[in-house]
Amino acid sequence: MPYELPPLPYAYDALEPHYDEQTVRLHHDKHHAGYVKGLNAAEEKLAAARASGDMSSVKALSQLLAFHGSGHVLHTIFWTNMKAGGGGTPSGALAAQIDADFGSFDAFLAQFKAATTSVEGSGWGLLVWNRLTGKLEILQTLNHQHSSQWGSVPLMAVDVWEHAYYLKYQNRRAEWVNTFFASLVNWDDVGARFGGAK
Ligand code: MN
Repeated sequence: MPYELPPLPYAYDALEPHYDEQTVRLHHDKHHAGYVKGLNAAEEKLAAARASGDMSSVKALSQLLAFHGSGHVLHTIFWTNMKAGGGGTPSGALAAQIDADFGSFDAFLAQFKAATTSVEGSGWGLLVWNRLTGKLEILQTLNHQHSSQWGSVPLMAVDVWEHAYYLKYQNRRAEWVNTFFASLVNWDDVGARFGGAK
């Protein structure tokens, strides 16, 4: 079964004025859809290689699989990490784990914003639960797949590719990241993902 683009969990204009409808439409319907298409193409070509026994393209296809597969996963998480009227602070088990692993929510937020705003070029700020170490970590992931950490389950993904924010925020990436936490983040979703991952 090919991968499919998941529908947004809200209307295209639901996150206005903090995340504008035009960016959400392009980002979901063109960019995220492109990763789904690329992932399916990589899987089909790998299946064809296995069927024919011709492994000459496997190196390139493996890289495409990592790029598009990671892009699809992170965008799927990103959309559900936001809601209209978001913001605030986490609660329950996630809040306790953040305090245990980062010292305090404020210290966590400062590290997360610093990691995310300083991505060189295109990438993401990620909060992950590492199943192997039993620890929350903040990762600065380049493109979609580089500088990840084995054992990690992404819980929260903040997109800082220019396509994610440039129409509205232009070069003000830090304003986009600040707005994500002030007005968009859905801590209930992040907390539910933490519960599932743990
Ligand atoms: Mn994106």
